[in-house]
Amino acid sequence: MSINSTNSKSLNKLENILIIGNGGRENSLAWAIQKNELVKKVYLIPGNAGSERINKCERIIIDINNKKDFVEKLEILKIDLIVIGPEIPLANGLADFLRKKDFKVFGPGKDGAKLEYSKSWAKEFMKNANIPTAKFWKVHSLEKAKEIIYSSSIPLVVKADGLASGKGVFIPDSKDECFRSAESIFNGKFGNSGNIVVLEEKIHGPEVSVFALCDGRNYVLLPTAQDHKRLNDKDKGPNTGGMGAYSPAPLLTKDSLDIIVKEIIEPTINELNKKNIDYKGVIYFGLMITKSGPKVIEYNCRFGDPECQTIMPLMDKNFVFLLEKCAMGKLTGSEKIDTSKNVSGCVIATSKGYPHKYKTGFPIKIGLIDSIDCQIFDSGTSFSKDKVLVTAGGRVLSIVCQAKDFDMVFDKAYKNLKEISFEGIYFRNDIGHQVRKNFSKEN
Ligand code: AMP
Repeated sequence: MSINSTNSKSLNKLENILIIGNGGRENSLAWAIQKNELVKKVYLIPGNAGSERINKCERIIIDINNKKDFVEKLEILKIDLIVIGPEIPLANGLADFLRKKDFKVFGPGKDGAKLEYSKSWAKEFMKNANIPTAKFWKVHSLEKAKEIIYSSSIPLVVKADGLASGKGVFIPDSKDECFRSAESIFNGKFGNSGNIVVLEEKIHGPEVSVFALCDGRNYVLLPTAQDHKRLNDKDKGPNTGGMGAYSPAPLLTKDSLDIIVKEIIEPTINELNKKNIDYKGVIYFGLMITKSGPKVIEYNCRFGDPECQTIMPLMDKNFVFLLEKCAMGKLTGSEKIDTSKNVSGCVIATSKGYPHKYKTGFPIKIGLIDSIDCQIFDSGTSFSKDKVLVTAGGRVLSIVCQAKDFDMVFDKAYKNLKEISFEGIYFRNDIGHQVRKNFSKEN
């Protein structure tokens, strides 16, 4: 598959691009953006130890909270487009600030980021717009939570309202466990993010990720994806930020995607407009395909990780024009997304102990890897004092490959993983099992 954004040319100068963030997502965005010959330089603030392995990329170490120095630096670098990766700066209004300073920014303002940073707000938003989602209760106290939990005739999940690095969702097996989860949130497990608790009907079905690039009015869809949230093979173990992904998701046929567009994506964009929210960025729709149709599990105001690393290699060199058009409110919505050729898959190599406590600082050895249609995006790495590449996070490397089918994709990815080592390296062996035809025969 490749994206072929017709009528694609730069609307303005696009020589110097800035990406904010330090993970695999931002490195993969940089990798896709630098493919365009108009782009001379991609700066990352702060990036990580893998950023400068990418063509045209340079890291900048500067405190973005020191607004005066930050803006001065952007002016010196003559930044033409800014892409904000993570949710926290978006929720803090960084995009609004930079737009006021006349920069072109891909990333929603604080009002749009609320889709992600307040789950109760997002649920009310969906309710108003009649967007299918699980039933919910917005709860301000443990007493109220207790009353709802013990009188409920349906199983519930428990969520902290605010940002919690993907850890604020509990899927309890009993009412007592459900109550204890709510109690831990109200007791401050996630600080202010837990001042409100959302109790939700537990729904069932496979999950898929859909991404819409949006300019405030129009949108284009990126290839769909599925990720693997659980730590261990066979989808066992605790939830993580994501242990791997594949794209596109064959589960979504054209017909089912049409339903999602009609019932979920367009009503979301219309409701944003109704609320005067000028959303210029990506909307991530985390969906569950239930027996009664697709339902929204959550919105994110940024690219998912590791879906982004998986999808970016499917983009052609005109991808950066789509980002620019979104930032400028100039998307027509008819930019053609041409599905052809390859599919893509990603396996994440993590530190032993992740998603709980883990150690960092272990040297990473990368042997002879197949680099044809394969990428290694650093997720959590840094350099030691003597300039050795070392582990610096729970998720360390994203091993990504493309090929004409998923068997070939994951054969290549796992072959490359054999060439990578660091103390305590851990990864799942069954990423993409749903789409690997040769998987069940081997396992
Ligand atoms: P979230 O951080 O909101 O994406 O939730 C993390 C994971 O929890 C999701 O990917 C789902 O697997 C699960 N989850 C969230 N909400 C529900 C729900 N209402 N019913 C069942 N599972 C859920």
